[in-house]
Amino acid sequence: MNLLDGKLVSAKIKEDIKQEAASFTAQAGRKPHLVAILVGNDGGSETYVASKMRNCELVGFESTNIRYDVDITEAELLAKIGEINEDPTIDGLIVQLPLPKHIDPDKVTEAIDYRKDVDGFHPINLGRMQRNLPCFIPATPYGIMLMLEHYGIETSGKKAVVVGRSNIVGSPMSILLARNSTPGNCTVTLTHSRTANLKEEILAGDIVVAAIGRKNFVTADMVKEGAVVIDVGINREESAETKSGFKLYGDVDFEGVSKKASWITPVPGGVGLMTIVGLLKNTLEAAKGTIYPK
Ligand code: NDP
Repeated sequence: MNLLDGKLVSAKIKEDIKQEAASFTAQAGRKPHLVAILVGNDGGSETYVASKMRNCELVGFESTNIRYDVDITEAELLAKIGEINEDPTIDGLIVQLPLPKHIDPDKVTEAIDYRKDVDGFHPINLGRMQRNLPCFIPATPYGIMLMLEHYGIETSGKKAVVVGRSNIVGSPMSILLARNSTPGNCTVTLTHSRTANLKEEILAGDIVVAAIGRKNFVTADMVKEGAVVIDVGINREESAETKSGFKLYGDVDFEGVSKKASWITPVPGGVGLMTIVGLLKNTLEAAKGTIYPK
């Protein structure tokens, strides 16, 4: 078993981003700027946003975290997004999900100017991704593709099985793996909770991406010998053993599956760190105007 080491790869790519950010700042007279809106005080969301902000500082970006109480109205949130869309000093905008039930996440996603949509969730970016056109790619699948690229994992002609079809991970992942690109050119099976014979489907995968949200769901008996296994899951459980009071578990039973896999990502230390890299790369591209000229 070889480790797909998110710590190592993300540190290397962040060093490159830092240098590019410094050149941008020298030329533009300002830093690339990411704004993150956080509504409410969900523990997981707080941790993710704090980590995104910290990483922006690390690579020399400006970052602003706008926080709202859980009872902000949808209209107020949409008005703020409209304001940010018009602000030329802000390059990227993300609204942390999940949102409270009274706010429609689709309306929010579509309200963000697609040229600032560094999460890559806007239908324009998703459509352009499907057509292999320049766009912001959703951060988690983007980070996974960068990881596969870094380790030179062969994808062409391979059978990839994606478990989970969410708009932010599973679906875009399946599109990226199937595109005519490198990495890419896999034959992809996209599975979900209504898939019949899920174990047999997963067993056929040369590459397995698990994005389900269930602790240790994928076990050794479900994985082909020598498969490449990407664990997207972040399942938080309270724990007295850690300083934070939480322990993280993936969707893959690492202990068992790592004995059969040729390559595998750990949790933590795998996809989560690469997601941040995807977001930072998108923000830099937004600042430079390379995808959508300013
Ligand atoms: P969602 O809850 O939106 O989607 C889960 C998907 O898994 C759905 O498509 C669902 O199927 C499928 N699923 C659920 N149960 C089963 C089952 N028993 N068998 C087969 N499929 C099943 O989750 P997300 O995609 O947002 O996130 C998935 C995981 O990844 C979570 O743990 C999340 O925390 C983590 N995550 C990690 C990130 C990172 O940076 N590492 C970033 C984003 C998410 P159906 O559609 O039929 O309901």
